[in-house]
Amino acid sequence: MSGLGDDLITITQRPDIVFAEGQGSWLTDEAGKRYLDLVQGWAVNSLGHCPAIVTEALLRQSRRLVNPSPAYFNRPLLDLAARLAELSGLERVFLASSGAEANEGAVKLARRWGRQAKGGAHEIVGFDGGFHGRTLAMMSASGKPGWDELYAPMPAGFVKARFNDIASVERALSPRTAAVMIELVQGEAGVNLADRGFVRELRALTAERGVLLVVDEVQTGIGRCGHTFAHQLYDVEPDVMTLAKGLGGGAPLAALLCRERFNCFLPGDQGGTFCGNPLMAAVGLAVVGEVCRDGFLAGVRQRAEQLSAGLQAVSRDHGLLGERGAGLLRALVLPSDNAADVVAAAQALEPAGLLLNAPRPNLLRFMPALNIGDRDMDMALCLLRQALRTVLG
Ligand SMILES: *Cc1c(COP(=O)(O)O)cnc(C)c1O
Repeated sequence: MSGLGDDLITITQRPDIVFAEGQGSWLTDEAGKRYLDLVQGWAVNSLGHCPAIVTEALLRQSRRLVNPSPAYFNRPLLDLAARLAELSGLERVFLASSGAEANEGAVKLARRWGRQAKGGAHEIVGFDGGFHGRTLAMMSASGKPGWDELYAPMPAGFVKARFNDIASVERALSPRTAAVMIELVQGEAGVNLADRGFVRELRALTAERGVLLVVDEVQTGIGRCGHTFAHQLYDVEPDVMTLAKGLGGGAPLAALLCRERFNCFLPGDQGGTFCGNPLMAAVGLAVVGEVCRDGFLAGVRQRAEQLSAGLQAVSRDHGLLGERGAGLLRALVLPSDNAADVVAAAQALEPAGLLLNAPRPNLLRFMPALNIGDRDMDMALCLLRQALRTVLG
C-alpha cells in the first residue's frame, strides 16, 4: 500500500494534494502550489487561514490554562457565554465542540422541556433538505435523501415538513411536537433561502402552538450572512439557536443558546468532556470580538455585493442559471450536472488553483473568508471564468 491516504478509513474521495500551509484566503500544498480558497473549511475559517487573532488567542490561552474539566468554571467560558448572550438576546449558553453536538443538545433540551411542560411532547419537526449534522440522531433530524436508511434503525421522533410551505408545517405539528428545527438558509442542500413571509408565519405558528423554534445557525451565524445572525435578516427571534463552524474560526467550537424559560436541564442531563474548555472558548471570544467590531460586518456586506454582482456577470456570460445567497454564503446554478468537473478544473488551474465546493451536482457554493480582500475576490471570479471555459467550452 503506497497511495495517499491508504491508512485512513475511506470517507470521501479527496484529490491527490496535501496541504501544508494557509494564510488568509490562500492555501499552499506540499509541492508549493498556491490555491485561492473559497471553501475555507466549509464556511468555518471566518477570518481566513491562520489569522493572528486566532493563533495568538490559542497561544496565549494554551500557556495559561488548557483544560480544568467541565466540572469547574473557567474565565473564557464565562466571557464567551456572556458575549453570545448579549449579542443574541438568548440568556443561556452551552458550549460544545461541533455543530452536530450543539444540535443534538437542542433536541435534548426540547425533549426535556416537552416532558416537563408539554405533557411528554418530544417530536421534532424538521425540513426536507435540512442538514443538522452526522450523528445518528442528527441524520434523523436532517432531510437529506437516503439518510433515513443508511444506518437504520434510526432514532425516532423526527418528522419532516416542506421548506417554505407553512401548510406542511401545520400538518406536521401535533400534541407530540416539542420543537420545529430549521436552517434559514439551507447550506448543504444548495443555499436555499427561506422566504421572509414563511419564516414570520413559522415564528407566529410555533409561538401560538407553544412549540420551540430552534434555528440552526451553525453555518449562517457569526457574520456569514452579513449580519451577526441570519435570523436578523428575517426580524424573528428564535427560542433556541445553535452555532458552530464560523464561531471557532477553524477551531472546534459550537454553542447551544436558549431563552431563560427553556433553561430546563437538571444537573447531569447534559455535558461533554471538551464542552466549555478554555482553549476553544478563548478562540471563540477572539473571533466574535473581530466579527462584531464596528465596521466589520459592513465590510462583509460589501464583499458579498461584489461576489453577487461578479457571479451574476459570470452567469450571464456563460449562459448559467443565476446566483443566490445571503452575505458570503452564495451559490451559482449551472445548467447541467457538471459542478464536480468545474471544481476539478478550478483546482487544476496553473499557476494558482481555485478551491470551490459543489454541494449539488449542478451547483457551486462560495464560502470565502469574511475578511477576503476585494482583489482576491476579483481574482477568484477571474479563475472561476477560466475553469468554466475549460469545462463548458
Ligand atoms: C455543518 C453543519 C452542521 C454540522 O456541524 P458539524 O460541526 O459538522 O457537526 C449542522 N448544521 C448545519 C446547518 C451545518 O451547516
